[in-house]
Amino acid sequence: MSAVKLTDIMKERQILSFELFPPKTEKGMNNLSGTIDHLCEFRPDYISVTYGAGGGNVGANREVCNMIKKAGTVPVTHFTVIRNTKEGIKSQLEAYLNEGVDHILALRGDFPRGENSTGGDFRYATDLVRFIRREFGEKFEIAVAGSPEGHIACRSLEADIEVLKQKQDNGADYIMTQLCWNMEQFKYWLDAIRKAGVTMPVDVGVMPVLDQAATISMALSRNGCVIERELSRIISKYWIFPNPFDKEPFDDALEQKKADFKKAGIEYTIKQIDRYRSLGINGIHLYALNKWRDITDIINESGMCTCV
Ligand code: FAD
Repeated sequence: MSAVKLTDIMKERQILSFELFPPKTEKGMNNLSGTIDHLCEFRPDYISVTYGAGGGNVGANREVCNMIKKAGTVPVTHFTVIRNTKEGIKSQLEAYLNEGVDHILALRGDFPRGENSTGGDFRYATDLVRFIRREFGEKFEIAVAGSPEGHIACRSLEADIEVLKQKQDNGADYIMTQLCWNMEQFKYWLDAIRKAGVTMPVDVGVMPVLDQAATISMALSRNGCVIERELSRIISKYWIFPNPFDKEPFDDALEQKKADFKKAGIEYTIKQIDRYRSLGINGIHLYALNKWRDITDIINESGMCTCV
């Protein structure tokens, strides 16, 4: 069994965690250890590390997990079934366990561009959860993804919630949520999953609003998330002309607008965190995007830090 059970901590209090991605360059990797040290000053309960669908970055993922362990925090590795065989999954998970990584976010992963299957032995995250429990018993604490607005490809929100229940029945321990800026929808979903018998703790994924193009693309490039009115007003107010995706924008006030947008975005993010916390959720999982300065502002001003 995992030495640290996050679900036990979640019974006592709301937890705090961060999400990082393995940098693609050596320079990025070197910088990341400093970022981890800064983030650890907030004594997060865990730091999770993304996994490239298809396993392309598995080496770097394991390296980052080890850096997190060395920094004294629990690493949670993300893991997907994309292009993974049963045998491949088993040997990768054994390698994680041998390195002391016994927390996992069990995902299906996004299909490779232009394809409409996982290209591996499993079709869904539910299959992966069942497989981990069958092969490894209680050795891993297992998180699964939940989408408050419904996964982009789901038949209906109700069907997606049934999938979540199936993940629980197959042995998952807690939920990490997809970004959701629509608070009314989040409340509806939270109520609906409880009514459907999903009792797993909910660790809310919060995407900090720091950059206009990134904010729009996070919402729309894959996830179909609603950009609610309060946020769309901020985007409009500081709109970079001709558009935030332009490589050479002609906006005279470019730098000022970027700075003003980030300031307003941080204030908005903090308000969102307040709203989530007041709903009695079990944790805040900040997508740190490998940044620590902006995250520091968010943590300090939100009063979320659990450090003494
Ligand atoms: P599933 O739960 O399998 O669901 C996929 C779709 O299939 C849904 O529409 C669901 O309703 C449907 N479905 C599921 N089971 C069944 C069934 N039995 N019958 C019929 N329909 C079914 N991706 C990465 O590649 N790497 C990462 O590191 C990563 N990190 C993430 C972190 C978080 C917190 C979240 C929320 C997502 C992350 N993702 C990551 C994205 C994720 O891989 C995608 O959202 C992916 O498209 C779905 O993964 P899932 O685990 O939710 O899939």
